[in-house]
Amino acid sequence: MAETAERRDFEATGKMKAVMGKYFVELTQGPDEGRKTAWCTSVGPAELLRALGLNVYFPENHGAMLGATRMATDLIPLANARGFSPDICSYLTSDVGSYLKGESPLQKMKLPGPPKADVLVFNTNQCRDVKDWFQFYAREWDVPCLGIHTPRAIGDLGDSIIDDVARQTEALVGPLEAVAGAKLDPARLAETIGLSRQCTVLWKAVLETAANVPSPLTFFDGTIQMGPAVVLRGHEDAVDYYEVLLAELEGRVADGVAAVEGERFRIYWEGMPIWGKLKGLSQQFLDLKTCVVASTYCNSWVFEDLDPADPFRSMARAYSEIFICRSDDRKERYIQEMVEKFKIDGILFHDAKTCPNNSNNRYQMPQRLQEKLGKPYLVVNGDLNDLRLYSEEQTRTNIEAFVEQLAEA
Ligand code: SF4
Repeated sequence: MAETAERRDFEATGKMKAVMGKYFVELTQGPDEGRKTAWCTSVGPAELLRALGLNVYFPENHGAMLGATRMATDLIPLANARGFSPDICSYLTSDVGSYLKGESPLQKMKLPGPPKADVLVFNTNQCRDVKDWFQFYAREWDVPCLGIHTPRAIGDLGDSIIDDVARQTEALVGPLEAVAGAKLDPARLAETIGLSRQCTVLWKAVLETAANVPSPLTFFDGTIQMGPAVVLRGHEDAVDYYEVLLAELEGRVADGVAAVEGERFRIYWEGMPIWGKLKGLSQQFLDLKTCVVASTYCNSWVFEDLDPADPFRSMARAYSEIFICRSDDRKERYIQEMVEKFKIDGILFHDAKTCPNNSNNRYQMPQRLQEKLGKPYLVVNGDLNDLRLYSEEQTRTNIEAFVEQLAEA
């Protein structure tokens, strides 16, 4: 390829780095300041933990950092040696490897590693691995591991599921109060849920700017910009940040500024990011003048059903409605909506070897969607963190051929 296009960064990114830096400093200082630390799964009851004044840490975010810094691949074998299979979640295995070796990307930020948990709180809405992951640390440190067991492959989300999940969430309050050494203040919970909802609305609006042609934003930008939505929902810093980013994106749209200069094609990314290869992939799509405009992954932090007036039921609904725990029929309907909204030309499915939960190509979904929508698809074999499972050369060739196919369509 003759030409190398340049990625356009956002002015807001500096502010995002400051917001994330502040979060990590406060997080790692929390225990010294007498705050108890709760580990929380990415779609766990973060609002409840925050409202109780706990220091809230998200190990999946740490997993993504281990992937993005390419530390993961060397750390995974340490967890394998302790009995965690190389076939299970590579966030889990790289995080456990990081703990065993005492090496973390946080140290590159001149911070101590992740804070030790006083309590670990999971929700199985995304997978079973999070529970096994948290139980490892609970045994290691002799601390409680609490959780919500949400059904999976949900079709219609009826009252019976919402009632059950709401009850399970409410049952966490007593044990969490005991750890936090504080009573849950309902007004603070409502305020936290309100902030979380504001963050969701803004994050969704950020992602939806990509429905414009040309798109002002790519999936690769989204994987960077989503940090505050993941670790700071329920906090005003996330709300303040997305107001700034959204204004910049709206400015780009008004001025016709494209994230991918000369955008020719628009792709939907279904599945996990390949964290250690985002830069190379982003560059390849830029050079091919093809914009990956939307993804299931970035959309997964949109929780519109949160309602401060109905905290437990609305958390139950919001966290049971997410894509990952829905039936294939629901997932297909959702992708169809995305294809229409974002004017998609083709769908890329990432088959992440160690995350079957986020790999939706394995039971004929691409074929069914192609038949329904008439859009070509590509399956990329790889992984979120374990780069031994990814062939850069093969993927490059396959993406090139896919874009040629789009050009011929
Ligand atoms: S959803 Fe996949 S990547 Fe995320 S924690 Fe579960 S197995 Fe790991």
